[in-house]
Amino acid sequence: MELLKRRILEDGKCFEGGILKVDSFINHQMDPLLMEAIAKEFAKRFSHERINKIMTIEASGIAPAIMVGYIMKLPVVFAKKKEPKTMINALTTTVHSFTKDREYPISISSDYLTPQDYILCIDDFLANGNAALGMIELIHQAGAHLSGMGFIIEKEFQKGSELLRKKNIHVESLAVICSLDNCEIVIK
Ligand code: 5GP
Repeated sequence: MELLKRRILEDGKCFEGGILKVDSFINHQMDPLLMEAIAKEFAKRFSHERINKIMTIEASGIAPAIMVGYIMKLPVVFAKKKEPKTMINALTTTVHSFTKDREYPISISSDYLTPQDYILCIDDFLANGNAALGMIELIHQAGAHLSGMGFIIEKEFQKGSELLRKKNIHVESLAVICSLDNCEIVIK
């Protein structure tokens, strides 16, 4: 996706520890027109999969996921990061956060993730794949089906992409970062 790659090179900022900041257009301030183009690209790449629901994790996955849901005319559900005190029929697992380096619980109600669901997971980044594994675990607990996983940005030098592809999951990443060494953004 040339538009996205150009924007990352123009406005992305590199931080210590292999972190790419895209705060000015993806996950703090957001560019809805870029997000629409991203969602259309996901819809095209997953057009041959059976999908009836979009799933993500709060918070930064919600914006792309709802745009994909809007374009594909499908409902969107997100796993919540808080303890499910008021959630009915909660399914829960634990995820290790790459950016914050700590564990956190994620939960989703089995009212909204069911054995009838064919799920497309959407998230902003694929790094080590822990958030993705958390979503897969919730899908497994619900008895739902995983149809594919779409990431706006994949950091190829971390282990997430290999891990998911080894599981034979249909993974689509719209921009693949080869390296952030010496704070230089290298895109495939
Ligand atoms: P993973 O679980 O694959 O290690 O990391 C994915 C999650 O961590 C994403 O949901 C994203 O919010 C966050 N993340 C991972 N790497 C980066 C990064 O380089 N920049 C930003 N802004 N978030 C990241």
